[in-house]
Amino acid sequence: SGPGVAQLVASRVLDVPDFPKPGIVFKDLMPLFSDGDVFRQVIDEIIKHHGADSFDVVAGVEARGFILAAAVAYATGKGVVPIRKAGKLPRAVFSCSYALEYGEATLEVHQDAFIAGQRVLVLDDVLATGGTAGAALDLVEQAGGTISGFTVPLELSFLNGRDRLTPRTVHAMLTV
Ligand code: AMP
Repeated sequence: SGPGVAQLVASRVLDVPDFPKPGIVFKDLMPLFSDGDVFRQVIDEIIKHHGADSFDVVAGVEARGFILAAAVAYATGKGVVPIRKAGKLPRAVFSCSYALEYGEATLEVHQDAFIAGQRVLVLDDVLATGGTAGAALDLVEQAGGTISGFTVPLELSFLNGRDRLTPRTVHAMLTV
């Protein structure tokens, strides 16, 4: 990504110490989403990086990934698929459990969420340990999709999420 958008993300991240647990510095990206001009630049950068022709559908990881995924999907005329926390989706799901920086979690996707071979762009807000992204990407493939790309506005490199996702590639607008 260009230095412009990296600076933009850097200038809009709020560090929240000890949330949701002592010792965790929570990276709050809400200021990146709540300013209309800035949000549009973030969405445009995601589309420009991958190219609108490289994906057929956009998947967002609950909950902040939904915000990005819906905007990218709308701007490119694609559909949006939610990858949700356990127990939220009403029909038959694939599930994947994983360890988090702060706890453990399970993600789910509807078994019929994708048409076989559909190219899926996956979006979340922050890459930390990579557990969430790994589960989300696994679920897309389990449900018959092909990963066309994975983007986060912010990557926390000291947690080595990118390495854990190898050979999958990560597009981060800002790596700290
Ligand atoms: P991980 O699975 O460790 O890569 O964590 C990534 C997921 O947890 C993303 O959905 C993030 O929204 C959230 N997350 C983990 N750590 C943080 C953090 N320090 N600040 C903000 N969000 C985080």
